[in-house]
Amino acid sequence: MSSAQELARWREQTRQQALSQSISPEEVDWLLQAVTGLTPLQLRLNQYPPEVAISLQQLTQLWEKRVNQRVPVQYLVGETPWRDINLTVSPGVLIPRPETEQIIDIALDAAGEAFQNGHWVDLGTGSGAIALALAKAVPDATIHAVDNSEDALSIAQQNAQQLGLESNIHFYQGCWFSPLAHLQGKISVMISNPPYIPSGMLKELQPEVAQHEPQSALDGGEDGLAAIRHLIATAPAFVHEGGVWLTEIMKGQAETLYQLLVENGNYTQIHFIQDFAGIERFALAYVSNSSSGFKMDDG
Ligand code: GLN
Repeated sequence: MSSAQELARWREQTRQQALSQSISPEEVDWLLQAVTGLTPLQLRLNQYPPEVAISLQQLTQLWEKRVNQRVPVQYLVGETPWRDINLTVSPGVLIPRPETEQIIDIALDAAGEAFQNGHWVDLGTGSGAIALALAKAVPDATIHAVDNSEDALSIAQQNAQQLGLESNIHFYQGCWFSPLAHLQGKISVMISNPPYIPSGMLKELQPEVAQHEPQSALDGGEDGLAAIRHLIATAPAFVHEGGVWLTEIMKGQAETLYQLLVENGNYTQIHFIQDFAGIERFALAYVSNSSSGFKMDDG
């Protein structure tokens, strides 16, 4: 239990401290909201209830994990807002990033009206963010979410249940397209936020990412493009002619990716879309030749 006065003092001190440790003071409020149920307005107006159920010691312990171990605040509170939904997250899934929110609008624009009843796939779904946002935005589509990690899938399914969307999404454990043999040539839209960071750069990432987020969601092999190359090679067997191929990428990858898509020969209208920071963040193309007779072993 802590009193209103104690809580106010703790908040003020911790916010100050955060600033001096290059952590946003907003994260202190984020933690407080999640564990005490206080609203942003109550915090802003310094209006605390007479007592909250958590002790200052417990709060301090949590905050020390943030500061000393650099645990992302989203893992400490077990959730993150993303687009208009709140997602459960754990260290088994990448924390969905704000810049990825845009991929949903890009997919909707690229697909237009034509594929509203089609099969849409989210490969490497993690927390389920993309699949869930699609399930909300394209209610008549059949959404398929794939992840290689069982931990990730169980979080994604938990999120689907919490949002009442579990009957709108089919979940599969496996590597990229491999659990989707029944959808060869039938997919209208493929979306993926695959691992794309070159292995050698992983240790240079901020400690919150490097030490706490799943490597399998980040590590894109030597040049960062291993997963994306695989998606380029395999998608034409699964996505029908005219279907959408859309992935997130990182700064500096567009040029190589353009070459790879052209060389493959089964893609058309290849282009790159900037995020709100002006970085070429999304690669979009349409499948021009859907190749039947693809054998799973080829991938
Ligand atoms: N955008 C993430 C980051 O900056 C990386 C996600 C990914 O590899 N798909 O850490």
